[in-house]
Amino acid sequence: MTVACPDCDLLQRLPELPPGGKARCPRCGNTLATQPADPIDRPLALAITAAIVFIIANTGPLMGLSAVGRHASTTIVGGAYEMWLQGETITAVIVAFCAVIAPGSYILFMLTVLLAVRRPPAPPWIGQMLRWSEAMQPWSMAEVMILGILVALIKIAELATVEPGVGMYAVGGLVVLLPAIMVTFDSREAWKRVAWAGGSASPPSEKRNGIRAEVVQ
Ligand SMILES: [Zn+2]
Repeated sequence: MTVACPDCDLLQRLPELPPGGKARCPRCGNTLATQPADPIDRPLALAITAAIVFIIANTGPLMGLSAVGRHASTTIVGGAYEMWLQGETITAVIVAFCAVIAPGSYILFMLTVLLAVRRPPAPPWIGQMLRWSEAMQPWSMAEVMILGILVALIKIAELATVEPGVGMYAVGGLVVLLPAIMVTFDSREAWKRVAWAGGSASPPSEKRNGIRAEVVQ
């Protein structure tokens, strides 16, 4: 694979990297590529943690509030539903998609892929799931979760005393966990372990991989 150094524009071929290895630009020393030391088990551990934290974030109270002796609490979905009821439908849909649906399916797809590729060959449909997880990745925005929570918080704070709930701390955990999965996961390593229709589990070359990818859809 030929790449251009983002710092000095030097064109160069990327060598096959050993686990934990790095490729550096010979001219300016910029790191061009890294091969995670543990591309499957570490993201799997993070994905399992993220799944637990995600469940807590969506079931636990985001914040509790008390006003004149009454106590109430809300969740992320509850907050989005409240926005929907108040006529802010677009905001409600964005919050529900970016804070619940996208990260939830990203974590689910990653868990399935990582568990399946641990014992290669993984079935061909894992390749499709790997593509879906890549499609969901840019939409799994913990920042949007935080933003939605802040909007709700500011609205409620005018009316009552607000205390952060367990869901809030769980969202804080996801802000760290989701990027950690993306950084430690190496999709090339996962692709290598998918069995292609009619083929063996041997790592396909880049060209073969492209041709086969069309067959699987
Ligand atoms: Zn360079």
